Parts: sequence; structure tokens; C-alpha cells
Amino acid sequence: MPDGKPAGVRCVQLTGDNRCRLFGDPRRPAVCAGLMPVREMCGESREEAMIWLARLEGLTAPVPAAKKNPGVRIRPRTPGGR
Ligand code: SF4
Repeated sequence: MPDGKPAGVRCVQLTGDNRCRLFGDPRRPAVCAGLMPVREMCGESREEAMIWLARLEGLTAPVPAAKKNPGVRIRPRTPGGR
């Protein structure tokens, strides 16, 4: 996908049985090749994996500026400090 794969959109490289057409191919995106799956990510079934993925997408979705809490400030960490 030349412009990247938006969240929630099925990758064009997925086969009908949910395998990657580019597995082992140098054209496979680095983000895909570098992903190390863990049990909590995959669960015991496709359904469990999709629930985990949907939750992750929700937690990492960009927050519109209007919804950000203007009262919250993030202080930079100081070396050795709090
Ligand atoms: S590993 Fe990457 S390229 Fe392959 S199907 Fe999944 S998202 Fe698409």
C-alpha cells in the first residue's frame, strides 16, 4: 500500500486465508518484518487477536486537539530527578 495502511483497513497483501503475500520478501514493510508477536497479542483465536488489535488502535488513535484536556501539562524529566 504505497501511502501506508490506515488503521482498520485490510492490507492488500493479505491472502484469503489471512497470510502475508510478502512474507520473506524484501518488499515487506519494515514495520511488519520487525513486529514480534506475543501471546497476549495473538490470543487463542483470530477473534481474540482482533479484539486486542481494536483496543490497541483505540488507545493509540490521534486525539483531536479540541478533545485534549487543556489543564494537563507534561513536564520534561530531569536527569536523576522526578
Ligand atoms: S505483514 Fe504487513 S504487508 Fe503482510 S499482510 Fe500484514 S500488514 Fe500486510
